[in-house]
Amino acid sequence: MLIVMKKGTTDKTVQSVVTAAERRGLTARPIPGGDRVSIGILYNKGSVDAAHFMGLEGVKEVIPVTKPYKLVSREFQLENTVVSIGGALFGGQDLPVIAGPCAIESETQTLTIAKAVKQSGAAVFRGGAFKPRSSPYSFQGLGEEGLKILAKVREETGLPVVTETMDVENFDLVEAYADAVQIGTRNMQNYSLLKRAGRSKLPVILKRGMSATLEEWLMAAEYIMEEGNPKVILCERGIRTFVKHSRNTLDLSVVPAANKESHLPLIVDPSHAAGVRDQVMPLAFASAAVGAAGIMVEVHHKPDEALSDGAQSLLPAQFDQLMQKVNAIHAITGTKAL
Ligand code: PEP
Ligand code: MN
Repeated sequence: MLIVMKKGTTDKTVQSVVTAAERRGLTARPIPGGDRVSIGILYNKGSVDAAHFMGLEGVKEVIPVTKPYKLVSREFQLENTVVSIGGALFGGQDLPVIAGPCAIESETQTLTIAKAVKQSGAAVFRGGAFKPRSSPYSFQGLGEEGLKILAKVREETGLPVVTETMDVENFDLVEAYADAVQIGTRNMQNYSLLKRAGRSKLPVILKRGMSATLEEWLMAAEYIMEEGNPKVILCERGIRTFVKHSRNTLDLSVVPAANKESHLPLIVDPSHAAGVRDQVMPLAFASAAVGAAGIMVEVHHKPDEALSDGAQSLLPAQFDQLMQKVNAIHAITGTKAL
Protein backbone atom coordinates (compact mmCIF):
# COMPACT_ATOMS: atom_id res chain seq x y z
CA MET A 1 0.00 0.00 0.00
CA LEU A 2 1.11 3.54 -0.71
CA ILE A 3 0.11 6.52 1.42
CA VAL A 4 0.42 9.71 -0.62
CA MET A 5 0.94 12.83 1.51
CA LYS A 6 -0.34 16.30 0.62
CA LYS A 7 2.10 18.78 -0.95
CA GLY A 8 4.23 20.65 1.56
CA THR A 9 3.63 18.20 4.43
CA THR A 10 6.23 18.64 7.20
CA ASP A 11 8.67 15.88 8.22
CA LYS A 12 6.92 15.77 11.59
CA THR A 13 3.53 14.99 10.02
CA VAL A 14 5.12 12.32 7.80
CA GLN A 15 6.73 10.80 10.89
CA SER A 16 3.39 10.73 12.71
CA VAL A 17 1.87 8.66 9.89
CA VAL A 18 4.91 6.32 9.97
CA THR A 19 4.42 5.93 13.72
CA ALA A 20 0.70 5.22 13.25
CA ALA A 21 1.58 2.44 10.80
CA GLU A 22 4.23 1.00 13.11
CA ARG A 23 1.75 0.94 15.99
CA ARG A 24 -0.29 -1.41 13.84
CA GLY A 25 2.74 -3.67 13.42
CA LEU A 26 3.46 -2.48 9.85
CA THR A 27 6.75 -1.36 8.28
CA ALA A 28 6.48 2.11 6.76
CA ARG A 29 9.13 3.73 4.58
CA PRO A 30 8.95 7.39 3.47
CA ILE A 31 9.74 7.86 -0.23
CA PRO A 32 10.57 11.44 -1.20
CA GLY A 33 9.01 12.32 -4.57
CA GLY A 34 9.13 15.40 -6.81
CA ASP A 35 6.91 17.73 -4.80
CA ARG A 36 5.40 15.40 -2.25
CA VAL A 37 6.33 12.51 0.02
CA SER A 38 4.72 9.10 -0.13
CA ILE A 39 4.94 6.39 2.49
CA GLY A 40 5.27 2.79 1.36
CA ILE A 41 3.87 0.02 3.56
CA LEU A 42 6.15 -3.01 3.21
CA TYR A 43 6.23 -6.65 4.31
CA ASN A 44 2.47 -6.81 5.05
CA LYS A 45 1.01 -10.22 4.48
CA GLY A 46 -2.52 -9.77 3.23
CA SER A 47 -4.28 -6.47 2.71
CA VAL A 48 -4.16 -3.44 4.99
CA ASP A 49 -7.29 -1.38 5.61
CA ALA A 50 -6.91 2.02 3.91
CA ALA A 51 -9.39 3.51 6.39
CA HIS A 52 -6.70 3.34 9.13
CA PHE A 53 -4.80 6.09 7.33
CA MET A 54 -7.31 8.11 5.31
CA GLY A 55 -8.29 10.41 8.17
CA LEU A 56 -4.76 11.15 9.41
CA GLU A 57 -3.31 14.65 9.15
CA GLY A 58 -1.46 15.31 5.88
CA VAL A 59 -2.73 12.20 4.06
CA LYS A 60 -3.98 12.90 0.52
CA GLU A 61 -4.82 9.40 -0.65
CA VAL A 62 -4.16 5.76 0.01
CA ILE A 63 -3.43 3.54 -2.99
CA PRO A 64 -3.41 -0.27 -2.87
CA VAL A 65 -0.30 -1.71 -4.57
CA THR A 66 -1.20 -4.63 -6.73
CA LYS A 67 2.27 -5.70 -7.90
CA PRO A 68 4.63 -8.08 -6.08
CA TYR A 69 7.42 -5.51 -6.45
CA LYS A 70 7.01 -2.31 -4.54
CA LEU A 71 10.04 0.01 -4.27
CA VAL A 72 10.87 -0.36 -7.97
CA SER A 73 7.31 0.18 -9.16
CA ARG A 74 5.66 3.25 -10.68
CA GLU A 75 2.86 2.76 -8.18
CA PHE A 76 5.34 3.70 -5.46
CA GLN A 77 7.09 6.45 -7.39
CA LEU A 78 5.65 8.19 -10.41
CA GLU A 79 8.72 10.22 -11.46
CA ASN A 80 11.65 8.61 -13.25
CA THR A 81 14.64 7.83 -11.06
CA VAL A 82 17.75 9.51 -12.38
CA VAL A 83 20.97 7.63 -11.58
CA SER A 84 24.34 9.33 -11.91
CA ILE A 85 27.47 7.37 -12.78
CA GLY A 86 30.23 9.88 -12.09
CA GLY A 87 28.05 12.71 -13.45
CA ALA A 88 26.58 10.84 -16.47
CA LEU A 89 22.82 10.91 -15.88
CA PHE A 90 20.67 7.88 -16.72
CA GLY A 91 16.89 8.40 -16.67
CA GLY A 92 16.90 12.12 -17.48
CA GLN A 93 16.83 13.91 -20.81
CA ASP A 94 20.14 12.58 -22.13
CA LEU A 95 21.07 9.29 -23.73
CA PRO A 96 24.47 8.48 -22.21
CA VAL A 97 26.50 5.75 -23.88
CA ILE A 98 28.73 3.30 -22.01
CA ALA A 99 31.50 1.83 -24.16
CA GLY A 100 34.65 -0.23 -23.87
CA PRO A 101 36.02 -3.71 -24.37
CA CYS A 102 34.43 -6.85 -23.01
CA ALA A 103 37.53 -7.53 -20.92
CA ILE A 104 40.48 -5.51 -19.66
CA GLU A 105 43.43 -7.24 -21.33
CA SER A 106 46.33 -4.83 -20.85
CA GLU A 107 47.00 -1.18 -20.06
CA THR A 108 47.80 -0.36 -23.68
CA GLN A 109 44.68 -2.07 -25.04
CA THR A 110 42.44 -0.40 -22.45
CA LEU A 111 43.82 3.12 -22.77
CA THR A 112 43.77 2.95 -26.56
CA ILE A 113 40.07 2.03 -26.55
CA ALA A 114 39.20 4.46 -23.75
CA LYS A 115 40.74 7.43 -25.57
CA ALA A 116 38.91 6.50 -28.77
CA VAL A 117 35.47 6.10 -27.20
CA LYS A 118 35.89 9.29 -25.19
CA GLN A 119 36.74 11.16 -28.38
CA SER A 120 33.50 9.87 -29.94
CA GLY A 121 31.43 11.03 -26.97
CA ALA A 122 31.04 8.01 -24.66
CA ALA A 123 29.95 9.10 -21.18
CA VAL A 124 31.14 6.04 -19.21
CA PHE A 125 33.88 3.45 -19.84
CA ARG A 126 33.23 -0.28 -19.39
CA GLY A 127 35.53 -3.29 -19.13
CA GLY A 128 35.53 -6.56 -17.21
CA ALA A 129 38.27 -7.48 -14.76
CA PHE A 130 36.39 -10.53 -13.48
CA LYS A 131 34.81 -12.33 -16.44
CA PRO A 132 31.95 -14.83 -16.19
CA ARG A 133 32.96 -17.18 -19.02
CA SER A 134 30.96 -20.15 -20.19
CA SER A 135 34.15 -22.24 -20.26
CA PRO A 136 36.59 -22.50 -17.35
CA TYR A 137 39.37 -22.67 -19.97
CA SER A 138 38.58 -19.22 -21.40
CA PHE A 139 40.26 -16.00 -20.23
CA GLN A 140 38.85 -15.22 -16.78
CA GLY A 141 39.99 -11.59 -16.54
CA LEU A 142 42.98 -9.84 -14.96
CA GLY A 143 41.33 -9.46 -11.53
CA GLU A 144 42.73 -6.63 -9.39
CA GLU A 145 45.33 -5.76 -12.04
CA GLY A 146 42.40 -5.04 -14.38
CA LEU A 147 40.73 -2.86 -11.76
CA LYS A 148 43.96 -0.84 -11.43
CA ILE A 149 43.97 -0.30 -15.18
CA LEU A 150 40.37 0.93 -14.97
CA ALA A 151 41.41 3.42 -12.28
CA LYS A 152 44.10 4.63 -14.65
CA VAL A 153 41.50 5.12 -17.41
CA ARG A 154 39.50 7.35 -15.07
CA GLU A 155 42.63 9.29 -14.17
CA GLU A 156 43.78 9.79 -17.76
CA THR A 157 40.46 10.34 -19.54
CA GLY A 158 38.15 11.60 -16.80
CA LEU A 159 35.60 8.92 -17.77
CA PRO A 160 33.79 7.15 -14.92
CA VAL A 161 34.22 3.36 -15.06
CA VAL A 162 31.85 0.44 -14.66
CA THR A 163 32.90 -3.18 -14.19
CA GLU A 164 31.31 -6.47 -13.26
CA THR A 165 31.33 -7.98 -9.80
CA MET A 166 30.70 -11.72 -9.91
CA ASP A 167 30.50 -12.66 -6.24
CA VAL A 168 30.15 -11.37 -2.70
CA GLU A 169 33.77 -12.35 -2.02
CA ASN A 170 35.23 -9.79 -4.47
CA PHE A 171 32.61 -7.11 -4.00
CA ASP A 172 34.69 -4.91 -1.65
CA LEU A 173 37.59 -5.01 -4.08
CA VAL A 174 35.50 -4.01 -7.11
CA GLU A 175 33.76 -1.32 -5.08
CA ALA A 176 37.10 0.23 -4.15
CA TYR A 177 37.96 0.94 -7.80
CA ALA A 178 34.70 1.34 -9.76
CA ASP A 179 32.22 4.19 -10.19
CA ALA A 180 29.41 1.67 -10.76
CA VAL A 181 29.15 -2.10 -10.45
CA GLN A 182 27.60 -4.42 -12.99
CA ILE A 183 25.72 -7.57 -12.06
CA GLY A 184 25.77 -9.87 -15.06
CA THR A 185 23.02 -11.90 -16.65
CA ARG A 186 24.21 -15.12 -15.00
CA ASN A 187 23.94 -13.54 -11.55
CA MET A 188 20.59 -11.77 -11.83
CA GLN A 189 19.08 -14.15 -9.30
CA ASN A 190 22.13 -14.48 -7.05
CA TYR A 191 20.28 -13.14 -4.05
CA SER A 192 23.25 -12.81 -1.70
CA LEU A 193 25.07 -10.78 -4.38
CA LEU A 194 21.97 -8.60 -4.91
CA LYS A 195 21.75 -7.95 -1.17
CA ARG A 196 25.43 -7.01 -1.04
CA ALA A 197 24.87 -4.61 -3.96
CA GLY A 198 21.97 -3.18 -1.99
CA ARG A 199 24.37 -2.23 0.79
CA SER A 200 26.73 -0.48 -1.63
CA LYS A 201 26.84 3.27 -2.14
CA LEU A 202 27.65 2.78 -5.83
CA PRO A 203 25.10 2.64 -8.66
CA VAL A 204 24.33 -0.90 -9.82
CA ILE A 205 23.73 -1.94 -13.42
CA LEU A 206 21.52 -5.01 -13.20
CA LYS A 207 21.51 -7.06 -16.38
CA ARG A 208 18.45 -9.10 -17.23
CA GLY A 209 18.82 -12.84 -16.70
CA MET A 210 18.99 -14.60 -20.06
CA SER A 211 15.64 -16.30 -19.45
CA ALA A 212 14.11 -13.90 -16.95
CA THR A 213 10.64 -12.42 -17.25
CA LEU A 214 10.16 -8.72 -16.62
CA GLU A 215 8.62 -9.55 -13.25
CA GLU A 216 11.60 -11.69 -12.16
CA TRP A 217 13.98 -8.96 -13.25
CA LEU A 218 12.11 -6.28 -11.32
CA MET A 219 12.01 -8.53 -8.25
CA ALA A 220 15.80 -8.82 -8.48
CA ALA A 221 16.01 -5.00 -8.56
CA GLU A 222 13.66 -4.94 -5.57
CA TYR A 223 16.27 -6.95 -3.58
CA ILE A 224 18.85 -4.21 -4.19
CA MET A 225 16.48 -1.36 -3.33
CA GLU A 226 15.09 -3.14 -0.32
CA GLU A 227 18.59 -3.27 1.21
CA GLY A 228 18.77 0.50 0.85
CA ASN A 229 20.41 1.25 -2.51
CA PRO A 230 18.05 3.23 -4.79
CA LYS A 231 20.67 3.66 -7.56
CA VAL A 232 19.67 0.80 -9.84
CA ILE A 233 19.93 0.83 -13.64
CA LEU A 234 18.27 -2.05 -15.50
CA CYS A 235 20.06 -3.40 -18.58
CA GLU A 236 18.38 -5.44 -21.34
CA ARG A 237 21.04 -7.57 -23.07
CA GLY A 238 19.05 -10.09 -25.08
CA ILE A 239 17.25 -13.23 -24.03
CA ARG A 240 17.48 -16.88 -25.06
CA THR A 241 15.20 -17.86 -27.92
CA PHE A 242 15.20 -20.53 -30.63
CA VAL A 243 16.88 -18.36 -33.28
CA LYS A 244 20.33 -19.07 -34.66
CA HIS A 245 20.99 -15.85 -36.55
CA SER A 246 22.07 -14.01 -33.39
CA ARG A 247 23.59 -14.93 -30.04
CA ASN A 248 20.44 -13.84 -28.20
CA THR A 249 17.26 -11.98 -29.13
CA LEU A 250 17.10 -8.32 -28.16
CA ASP A 251 13.77 -7.83 -26.44
CA LEU A 252 13.01 -4.26 -27.42
CA SER A 253 9.40 -4.42 -26.31
CA VAL A 254 10.58 -4.81 -22.73
CA VAL A 255 11.71 -1.16 -22.83
CA PRO A 256 8.24 0.44 -22.96
CA ALA A 257 6.86 -2.39 -20.80
CA ALA A 258 9.45 -1.82 -18.06
CA ASN A 259 9.16 1.96 -18.33
CA LYS A 260 5.47 1.58 -17.61
CA GLU A 261 6.01 -0.71 -14.62
CA SER A 262 9.08 0.87 -13.07
CA HIS A 263 10.61 4.29 -12.49
CA LEU A 264 14.14 2.88 -12.79
CA PRO A 265 16.23 3.80 -15.86
CA LEU A 266 16.60 1.00 -18.39
CA ILE A 267 19.59 0.86 -20.73
CA VAL A 268 20.12 -1.52 -23.65
CA ASP A 269 23.23 -3.56 -24.49
CA PRO A 270 22.91 -4.56 -28.16
CA SER A 271 26.39 -6.20 -28.22
CA HIS A 272 25.55 -9.25 -26.08
CA ALA A 273 22.16 -9.56 -27.77
CA ALA A 274 23.70 -9.61 -31.25
CA GLY A 275 26.90 -11.59 -30.74
CA VAL A 276 27.98 -10.42 -34.18
CA ARG A 277 29.29 -7.00 -35.11
CA ASP A 278 27.04 -6.25 -38.08
CA GLN A 279 23.86 -6.35 -35.97
CA VAL A 280 25.10 -4.07 -33.21
CA MET A 281 24.60 -0.73 -34.96
CA PRO A 282 21.01 -1.30 -36.17
CA LEU A 283 20.04 -2.63 -32.75
CA ALA A 284 21.62 0.40 -31.06
CA PHE A 285 19.60 2.70 -33.31
CA ALA A 286 16.42 0.81 -32.45
CA SER A 287 17.28 1.06 -28.74
CA ALA A 288 17.60 4.84 -28.99
CA ALA A 289 14.30 5.03 -30.85
CA VAL A 290 12.36 2.84 -28.42
CA GLY A 291 13.12 5.01 -25.37
CA ALA A 292 16.19 3.43 -23.75
CA ALA A 293 17.77 5.56 -21.01
CA GLY A 294 21.24 4.69 -22.25
CA ILE A 295 23.19 2.26 -24.40
CA MET A 296 26.11 -0.04 -23.58
CA VAL A 297 28.39 -1.17 -26.41
CA GLU A 298 31.55 -3.26 -26.66
CA VAL A 299 34.39 -1.67 -28.62
CA HIS A 300 37.85 -3.07 -29.44
CA HIS A 301 40.61 -1.61 -31.62
CA LYS A 302 41.80 -5.13 -32.56
CA PRO A 303 38.70 -7.28 -32.27
CA ASP A 304 40.34 -10.23 -34.02
CA GLU A 305 42.84 -10.43 -31.18
CA ALA A 306 40.35 -9.78 -28.35
CA LEU A 307 40.42 -12.28 -25.48
CA SER A 308 36.64 -12.25 -25.24
CA ASP A 309 33.65 -11.19 -27.35
CA GLY A 310 35.74 -9.94 -30.27
CA ALA A 311 33.11 -10.98 -32.82
CA GLN A 312 30.58 -8.53 -31.41
CA SER A 313 32.99 -5.69 -30.66
CA LEU A 314 32.78 -2.59 -32.86
CA LEU A 315 35.87 -0.97 -34.26
CA PRO A 316 36.44 2.57 -32.93
CA ALA A 317 35.48 4.10 -36.31
CA GLN A 318 32.20 2.16 -36.29
CA PHE A 319 31.55 3.31 -32.74
CA ASP A 320 32.07 6.88 -33.86
CA GLN A 321 29.42 6.45 -36.55
CA LEU A 322 27.11 4.80 -34.04
CA MET A 323 27.39 7.79 -31.70
CA GLN A 324 26.49 10.26 -34.41
CA LYS A 325 23.40 8.36 -35.50
CA VAL A 326 22.27 7.50 -31.99
CA ASN A 327 22.45 11.16 -31.01
CA ALA A 328 20.47 12.14 -34.12
CA ILE A 329 17.78 9.53 -33.36
CA HIS A 330 17.59 10.62 -29.73
CA ALA A 331 17.13 14.21 -30.87
CA ILE A 332 14.05 13.14 -32.84
CA THR A 333 12.49 10.64 -30.45
CA GLY A 334 13.33 12.90 -27.54
CA THR A 335 12.98 12.12 -23.88
CA LYS A 336 12.00 8.86 -22.30
CA ALA A 337 8.81 7.32 -23.57
CA LEU A 338 6.18 7.15 -20.86
C1 PEP B 1 29.57 -8.30 -20.28
O1 PEP B 1 28.99 -7.21 -20.13
O2 PEP B 1 30.71 -8.41 -20.76
C2 PEP B 1 28.83 -9.54 -19.94
C3 PEP B 1 29.46 -10.65 -19.59
O3 PEP B 1 27.51 -9.40 -20.08
P1 PEP B 1 26.27 -10.42 -19.79
O4 PEP B 1 26.25 -10.61 -18.31
O5 PEP B 1 25.12 -9.65 -20.33
O6 PEP B 1 26.54 -11.67 -20.57
MN1 MN C 1 31.20 -9.26 -23.22
